[in-house]
Amino acid sequence: MSGYRAQLPVAGRQVLVVGDGPGLVVEVTALLDAEAMVTVAAATVPAAVEDLADRRVIRWLRRTWSPSDVSAVDLVVTTVADEELVRAGSDCATWVVVTERVTPARSVQRGRVTLVGGGPGPAGLLTLAGAAALRTADVVVCDRLAPLSTLRELAPGAEVIDVAKVPRGRSTSQEAINTILVDRARAGQHVVRLKGGDPFVFGRGGEEAIACADAGVPVSVIPGVTSSVAGPALAGIPLTHRGVAQGFSVVSGHVPPGSPESTVDYAALARAGTTLVLLMAVATLPAILEALVEAGLDPATPAATVADAGMPTQRVVTATASTLADVVRQSGLGAPAITVVGSVVGLQPLGVGLESAQRPDRSAGDLHAVERTG
Ligand code: SAH
Repeated sequence: MSGYRAQLPVAGRQVLVVGDGPGLVVEVTALLDAEAMVTVAAATVPAAVEDLADRRVIRWLRRTWSPSDVSAVDLVVTTVADEELVRAGSDCATWVVVTERVTPARSVQRGRVTLVGGGPGPAGLLTLAGAAALRTADVVVCDRLAPLSTLRELAPGAEVIDVAKVPRGRSTSQEAINTILVDRARAGQHVVRLKGGDPFVFGRGGEEAIACADAGVPVSVIPGVTSSVAGPALAGIPLTHRGVAQGFSVVSGHVPPGSPESTVDYAALARAGTTLVLLMAVATLPAILEALVEAGLDPATPAATVADAGMPTQRVVTATASTLADVVRQSGLGAPAITVVGSVVGLQPLGVGLESAQRPDRSAGDLHAVERTG
């Protein structure tokens, strides 16, 4: 004969069940399997429980519990945490088992999309919430800069869609990604859109969130460690420092200054007195630094470029606003890279970045080689 919950011997015993929802059905049927005599105290019950009451397999009181119900039974099982009920049970030496709410089975779950910021690359910089989302994903949609080593968090059987392989053409491909997110969620899947850094920092996460909302698909965001902050930190550059920089600006250098598509006021940035962080600015670096110096930025302002931040291939070069573009070109640094312009670049509080390239202890935060040129 089987028991209930780790062989609790309930056969032939009176059991009062309190609660609601699908959890009630689960507990009642498990108790019946274990041959308990079941009474349900609830004002309303799911149809399956009502059916058992109609067939007199159980007794349904059609009201909430009272202390006399508790004292009349050998065991109380409740699917809702109710302190008063637990106290009533201990008053009359009746065991009270508080069960967890049972969530509906996967197949009846509504599909949804979670935009997850994966951080700049190292798995250790994925947030705990991001890792938890990956573990419950049915499908993960990721692209080139997403931290792919974090995919080890995935549940067995979860599907990975690499949208770097989606047909070319910027707007077409974003549209195609939006379609994948919406279609999969509509099919009832938990879709994780895994992105590099933070989804809402040059990640087009806003566009994806709007596409989901427009399609009536529930969407949420888990922020990530943005490379605009982590990249400089991994190179030992603090973006602010008391007495040196009271703020920082993060700008996309995807289009050069003066381009009709550029909305960035570089002259204002040159005067701002804060640290400047440039993303997507390898090809446009000469034009951007020139515009800043022309607008009055001191050409001797320290500047650094960090490529592949947080990866084993990380490289850092430091120079000045007037020399960095040449140094980057000569060093052959390429995307993904971040450039920092400002006095904070000269601080080097971690003591890295001196003449010889170093490879610090990998266990200490995945820091990698830093070199100084120019
Ligand atoms: N959402 C991302 C940024 C996407 S834009 C974030 O918050 O980090 C892509 C740009 O980010 C790249 O061109 C580069 O400038 C920067 N980037 C992302 N990961 C990087 C890394 N590991 N090292 C250096 N730059 C990185």
